[in-house]
Amino acid sequence: ATPTSIMVGTGKGAEYGILIKGAEHLENAHRLTTIVLDKTGTITKGQPELTDIVTLSTLSDREILQLATRAEKNSEHPLAQAIVKYGQQQGMSLEDPEAFTAIPGHGVEAVIDGKKLLVGTRKLVRENNIEIEAAISEVERLEQQGKTVMILAVEQEIAGLIAVADTVKENSAQAVAELQKLGIEVWMITGDNERAAKAIAGSVGITSVLAEVLPEHKAEKVEALKREGKVVAMVGDGINDAPALATADVGFAIGTGTDVAIEAADITLMRGDLNGIVAAIKLSKATMRNIK
Ligand code: ADP
Ligand code: MG
Repeated sequence: ATPTSIMVGTGKGAEYGILIKGAEHLENAHRLTTIVLDKTGTITKGQPELTDIVTLSTLSDREILQLATRAEKNSEHPLAQAIVKYGQQQGMSLEDPEAFTAIPGHGVEAVIDGKKLLVGTRKLVRENNIEIEAAISEVERLEQQGKTVMILAVEQEIAGLIAVADTVKENSAQAVAELQKLGIEVWMITGDNERAAKAIAGSVGITSVLAEVLPEHKAEKVEALKREGKVVAMVGDGINDAPALATADVGFAIGTGTDVAIEAADITLMRGDLNGIVAAIKLSKATMRNIK
């Protein structure tokens, strides 16, 4: 690779809002065989909205919303923010819980009015020895619609469910199709449950899905693909994605994402949508062609 053509390449990239940290990344981008896309905030807008409240106890929908709002009030997770925003709109109290612990990749634990609450995944609830059998069919019905379902448990009993939905970005499906046309295999990775993950993946044309991956395991999944001989790009926006972005042959950060992700990445897509990946790969191919 001649320095001049690489410089032209990186300069062209900037025109499309593609910020490339070093020449070697442009060279690596043209060899990519595999792209792993984070779901929330990368394929989707990352602004989930509350869609359903389901009671599975004597508590009313409003009581469920009230408890969940207070329990999630101090969580920074986008799912928590969706609950709190809706709770606020519905006039719920935002009083601090007596105790609060975030459990990354699982949910939150809180104490309200002396009662122990859990809001989060099936796994979180199950690991606390709470029977979830009675909730399963309702959980699965909502997940089938691509929604993320959080279970609220109060004092070792399931109280109800809260579902949220995130919208897919306008360009996601088109970008996935173009990547596939370039002969690149496209995966989706997420901490979300398998059923919701597959519903979202299917809506943008992705069939290879890595779901229920804990934040600390995302990098291992990228490593495993590399060990299969693939040249792998990771695309993400969250703090959770940073180790995977650093592990990948090329890490792409969504420019609207967290600083930690941008720091860890090799290339930043300032426009915030997936078309930037396609543009970066085409640019790298053109640049490498000029060199030969
Ligand atoms: P993602 O990869 O989609 O950003 P995370 O790894 O952060 O997901 O979380 C995985 C799952 O854990 C979420 O889909 C949700 O079910 C649950 N979860 C995480 N944080 C919270 C929270 N604050 N409240 C409720 N559930 C949560
Ligand atoms: Mg994300």
